[in-house]
Amino acid sequence: MRVLLVEDETHLADAVARGLAAESFRVEVAHDGQAGLAKALTGDYDVVVLDIMLPGLSGYRICQEMRRAKVWTPVLMLTAKDGEYDEADALDLGADDYLTKPFSFVVLVARLRSLVRRGAPARPVVLEVGDLSLDPARHHVTAGGDPVTLTPREFSLLQHLMRHPAVVQSKRDILDGVWDAHYDGDPNIVEVYVGYLRKKLSGADTRIETVRGVGYVLTGS
Ligand code: CA
Repeated sequence: MRVLLVEDETHLADAVARGLAAESFRVEVAHDGQAGLAKALTGDYDVVVLDIMLPGLSGYRICQEMRRAKVWTPVLMLTAKDGEYDEADALDLGADDYLTKPFSFVVLVARLRSLVRRGAPARPVVLEVGDLSLDPARHHVTAGGDPVTLTPREFSLLQHLMRHPAVVQSKRDILDGVWDAHYDGDPNIVEVYVGYLRKKLSGADTRIETVRGVGYVLTGS
């Protein structure tokens, strides 16, 4: 099992690397963010351990860049107890697990084995239409590069439209795709949510067009 350990505290890095080697992991160490990112992007590892506070580039950025480059190697983040970030951030940014420093070596080994067993999760592909981007794994939407905050229902509606770009979706299609298939309330609920979405995406070039009497279609420009 190949482990990349990105940790700038050399004593800690050496001790962990030695310990992991004794557990028959093959360990490579990087001591700063840039070197860590360059190695991580090769995708040559079964698991990556990232410290957060690193010279050059934080562990968060490394993880973000890995995911952006579609490198899905499992990531375990090392977070400091008094750190300015919390584990929620780590998981939000695409890490698969985290450990708070100081950590027990036995626990680290157990977590790494479990991550490797699980393997790289199959991540849904980021959807892109025009200047809209929707990342189902991170539940994250941007319009023209700017993040947009959506409710879960708005998110599902946009996801549905982005899965069928340039194909008109009837209210029924949308209800079936976004609401429960057994939804028998007012189908005009779709109109209401399209209205909410339009408002939130008003800064985007990509628009939800109404096709009179038929439904809605997302058109990228
Ligand atoms: Ca550090």
